Amino acid sequence: MHDEAKFGPLYTFVYDCLGSPEGARNPNIWLCVSCHKCEEVCPYEVSPIKFIESLKAEATGLGVVHPTIRGEVGNVLATGFAFPLTSATERQRQALGLPALSTGPAVEVQAIAQGTGLFEKLREGRQ
Ligand code: SF4
Repeated sequence: MHDEAKFGPLYTFVYDCLGSPEGARNPNIWLCVSCHKCEEVCPYEVSPIKFIESLKAEATGLGVVHPTIRGEVGNVLATGFAFPLTSATERQRQALGLPALSTGPAVEVQAIAQGTGLFEKLREGRQ
């Protein structure tokens, strides 16, 4: 359960992620959008994102994948895009003179998912 309300100057998001005894099982790690801002602004040149990314990787290995990420990965595997393409996207591309995008199973990505066991990891964590 996410509890963003508890974050503040005395208990930061990064502290929550890095201080959690079972970091990979802390659902808050999925709140990190990998923007690297913390890395840019840290005066001590600490890079919290590297730790948080490793926690996300560990969580994925454990099959504890946030439903939002599971959905995005499912979209990529099914269509090649993380988010569904809309008619607005098509209209904007047409207005810019860009070719239409084609969607369909991302065969190469599916092969990687199969070879790395990603499919099983995504299924394991489903509840
Ligand atoms: S990369 Fe850093 S600043 Fe960006 S969301 Fe993640 S923890 Fe926050």
